[in-house]
Amino acid sequence: MATNRNYDFIIAGAGAAGLSLAWNLLHRKELKGRSILLADRTLKPLRDKTWCFWDDSHVPFRDLIHHTWETLAVRFPDAQFSETLKTYRYHCVRSDDYAGKILEMARNSPSVTLLEADIEGFEFKSENPDENRGSDEIGGSDESSTSDEAGTSDKKGTAVMHSSEGPFTAGHIFQSALRPPGFHQLKLDLSLLQHFAGWHIRTEKEVFDPGTATFMDFDVPQDNGFTFFYVLPFSRRDALVEYTLFSPEVISDEAYRQGLEEYIEQRCGLAPGSYEIEYTEKGVIPMEDRRYPARYCRNVWNMGTMGGLTKPSTGYTFTRIQHHTSAIADALSRGKNPPDKIMSPYRFRVYDMLLLYNLHRDPETSVTIFRELFRNNRFDRILRFLEEHTWFHQDLRIMASVPWMPFFRAIYGMKHRILTGA
Ligand SMILES: Cc1cc2nc3c(=O)[nH]c(=O)nc-3n(C[C@H](O)[C@H](O)[C@H](O)COP(=O)(O)OP(=O)(O)OC[C@H]3O[C@@H](n4cnc5c(N)ncnc54)[C@H](O)[C@@H]3O)c2cc1C
Repeated sequence: MATNRNYDFIIAGAGAAGLSLAWNLLHRKELKGRSILLADRTLKPLRDKTWCFWDDSHVPFRDLIHHTWETLAVRFPDAQFSETLKTYRYHCVRSDDYAGKILEMARNSPSVTLLEADIEGFEFKSENPDENRGSDEIGGSDESSTSDEAGTSDKKGTAVMHSSEGPFTAGHIFQSALRPPGFHQLKLDLSLLQHFAGWHIRTEKEVFDPGTATFMDFDVPQDNGFTFFYVLPFSRRDALVEYTLFSPEVISDEAYRQGLEEYIEQRCGLAPGSYEIEYTEKGVIPMEDRRYPARYCRNVWNMGTMGGLTKPSTGYTFTRIQHHTSAIADALSRGKNPPDKIMSPYRFRVYDMLLLYNLHRDPETSVTIFRELFRNNRFDRILRFLEEHTWFHQDLRIMASVPWMPFFRAIYGMKHRILTGA
């Protein structure tokens, strides 16, 4: 039980983003000794996610990488491509390893207090009582604090986290638990769900190649939306097989089960009963063109999924979280406020919208777009583009390699957003 009620920093939500920020704050010598409250409804390391990524430049805990693949394969009904990566590697981290290691580090740090509680809301309390009038409701958004000096905003007031264990205050709160206020009023034209179910299976037979990950296998029925499987083999006898769909609605548990059984039987030659299911995971990731605000209210910053860090066209979030939390810790260690700009650059927001438009309207054509993308480009180039690390002339080469017509249609359909800052 946390007896102290006031901290330098509160991290509200101890998932991918909250734990990464805790790690970063504990590794900045300039922030040594600053008090941190790390809050979540549960602080037990859970194995409920397997995070894959390829840009490891800001992943500080490399020893947590569970497996790395050098070769990626993609498959379509009429074509297959595979390539050994030159620049990148495809990595995965298990959520229980990640949480176990970082929570242990937090428990051993005298400056960190752990709190298991339900987080209910946030607000900013100004030292000037006049300023608090009218902003008493939990979650009132206030973007007016633009000072870049962390010390300056600390003096003007305090951020409050309301929880089932009562209120806690801090100079800065970083939250990944709650949707920002006004979420449903944010401009939204395109909204899809990336939903998936995965089985980690173990077999007697040696059927997998642990050096090659199947990045996307589209040679499967596309009846329920844009559908693919991916396979992450950890050894010759075990792999995570994941059934992924982009569609407006999730499907039933029975439909996931049936899809996984059929795929494993047809692609891996493993009939039901000939393998053990060691672990299952399920998830839903929003793929939307909503522009999330950087702050929940003054001195409360949004992070992770709640900060809008999910790339709308792919659902990849993990690497963006690592970049963001590292930038927050860098700013704080220089005595500055965290960055208010967490959105992708304009041109990448437009590309995401155009692809999302096609994924939404025309899943079949989208499979063709992906086929031509992988047929005509090196995998490293595609990954760099998805990571938003390409130059404009490189983007043009990639765009020239896929069918144009669907993108012209998407530009027309989304012109009202493209012309108003995306
Ligand atoms: C199964 C799954 C697999 C994924 N795989 C990948 C991948 O391979 N690559 C990739 O880039 N992205 C992936 N993602 C997307 C994204 O990286 C993850 O969702 C990531 O966990 C997001 O981090 P986060 O910190 O924003 O949210 P979370 O990790 O979900 O953390 C939020 C935390 O807040 C806590 N919390 C929420 N509400 C409250 C409350 N009211 N009170 C107290 N605590 C609360 C939760 O308990 C949780 O610990 C995956 C997502 C899922 C669901």
